[in-house]
Formats: sequence, structure tokens, C-alpha cells
Amino acid sequence: MTKVTDNSLGVDLLNLTSRAEGDVELDPLCFKDAIALAVTNQGVLLPCCRMDDPETMNDPLMKDMLNASVINDNNKIEDILKSKQWKQFAKDLSNNIGPNACRTTCAKLKKYTQVVEWIDTEKGVATSVEKK
Ligand code: SF4
Repeated sequence: MTKVTDNSLGVDLLNLTSRAEGDVELDPLCFKDAIALAVTNQGVLLPCCRMDDPETMNDPLMKDMLNASVINDNNKIEDILKSKQWKQFAKDLSNNIGPNACRTTCAKLKKYTQVVEWIDTEKGVATSVEKK
């Protein structure tokens, strides 16, 4: 039996704020074309699919950008990409500021992303632990 524990930053997640506020270094995949744009089922364009998590989508500081990203409210995708809200978002990321999704996906300080334990089900003890 294996037990998998998400621990994206390798630290106690309960003691972290959910946003990156300059306290972690970000290495945004979206700056490197290493991840594709995404569209929610509400027709909102996002820099990547990782953004579509409740904590990020309900982050009050994301409201302005998300409102500006409704595809039906814009003539072209380029209008969204070039909007002041997206420019500000990119500027914030370059200053290591961003919502929960960016902190958990693109923080440079990741020591490991998962802890996998192999458990001896008869004895109820972990026989081996792997940090990925
Ligand atoms: S999680 Fe944030 S920083 Fe990472 S690729 Fe997506 S938008 Fe960019």
C-alpha cells in the first residue's frame, strides 16, 4: 500500500499564506512558454490551467484580471493578453507576487512535490519513504 502526501513546497503548508507575496521566488512556466493558456467552463481565459483552482479564482486580488478575461466580452484573445490587467499580472509575477496557483505551481523553492510512503499493511509501518 502507498500513501501519498502533497507537500508542494516541502514545508508546512498550514503555516503559509496562500498567495506569493515576494516571500518565495517564482519561476513562472508561463514566462517560458512551458505551459498553455487555458479557458474555464465559464469562458474565462487564464494564463494556464493551474489557475482554475478555487483559492485562485476566488482570490479578491484576482477579480479585476478575471473580469477582464471573459472571452465573450472581448473582440480578440490578443485584447485580453494585452490588457492592463494581464500586464500587471505579469509584472507582479516577475516581482514574485501571485495567487495560490502560482505559489504552489511555480515556486522555485520546491524541495519536493510529493512524499510517497510504502506501508507494510500487516505491521502498519512505513517500510520506505520517497520524496519526489
Ligand atoms: S501557475 Fe501562475 S506562474 Fe505558474 S504558469 Fe500558471 S499563471 Fe504562470
